[in-house]
Amino acid sequence: MPEATSAADIEAVAALLREARSVVVLTGAGISTESGIPDFRGPDGVWTKNPDAERTATIQHYVANRDHRVSSWANRAGSPMQTAEPNAGHLALAELERKGKLDTLVTQNIDGLHHDAGTSSERIIEIHGTVRDFACLDCTDRGPIEVVLDRVREGDEDPHCRSCGGLLKSATISFGQALIASDLERAQLGAANSDLFLAIGTSLTVYPVAALPEIAIQYGARLVILNAQETPYDSAASVILRGGIGDVLPRIVELV
Ligand code: NAD
Ligand code: ZN
Repeated sequence: MPEATSAADIEAVAALLREARSVVVLTGAGISTESGIPDFRGPDGVWTKNPDAERTATIQHYVANRDHRVSSWANRAGSPMQTAEPNAGHLALAELERKGKLDTLVTQNIDGLHHDAGTSSERIIEIHGTVRDFACLDCTDRGPIEVVLDRVREGDEDPHCRSCGGLLKSATISFGQALIASDLERAQLGAANSDLFLAIGTSLTVYPVAALPEIAIQYGARLVILNAQETPYDSAASVILRGGIGDVLPRIVELV
């Protein structure tokens, strides 16, 4: 269990939020663990438990290896991500927007739960894509993932594109795949324009997203980190909160 967070720290972050002109929030897998979706690097993380999975999480491996695609689609069809519900942490960020204190929400998560919680779509940048859609790796075909998951459930183990025959994948960005340039640019501009940057539930180790706090600080923003474990940016943060996100975040937002 993460250690408790003091009332003074919670009030300190609420005060920073009240004073802020432009708030950018970056979330990672840690905000969704309380919705039943494991993170990668936490104590119960997918990669902490199975280090081999990290080595195969690349686009090159996906394209070259039919068995890997078959197991990826089978896992996707039965994944807790398809049925998960937003938790108190996601809901608190939607409330922060209603209070006029959320400029941009950059999420590394692919689970779509910030949308479900009610944060406006135009404020969300899903920088690593989404599992809610499929995409063809060869043409521009894209659509709701359910269409492809139905094919998988009906026995099509490695579904191909109906337009061009190319390989299909969830519309997520794997290691080895480029980010969408316009999304990254928007996230970087948001960070540069912010005066308060909150990093929530992320180990801050996946680049180029992990450079966003650095950009924010360079342009004069304060950094707040809410994460159960240490991050490489802890020494640059104005406040570090180690408690559980679903507990701490609503208490902060209530005071804003
Ligand atoms: P990460 O696994 O590297 O780090 C998550 C961090 O959150 C850990 O340091 C952990 O200690 C902390 N954490 C977990 N639960 C917490 C809680 N309840 N309260 C406070 N802290 C908590 O995750 P990352 O930095 O997002 O990088 C992993 C990559 O994996 C991302 O790029 C993302 O695309 C992907 N991913 C996404 C999901 C999802 O969509 N839900 C799940 C797993 C991985
Ligand atoms: Zn295609």
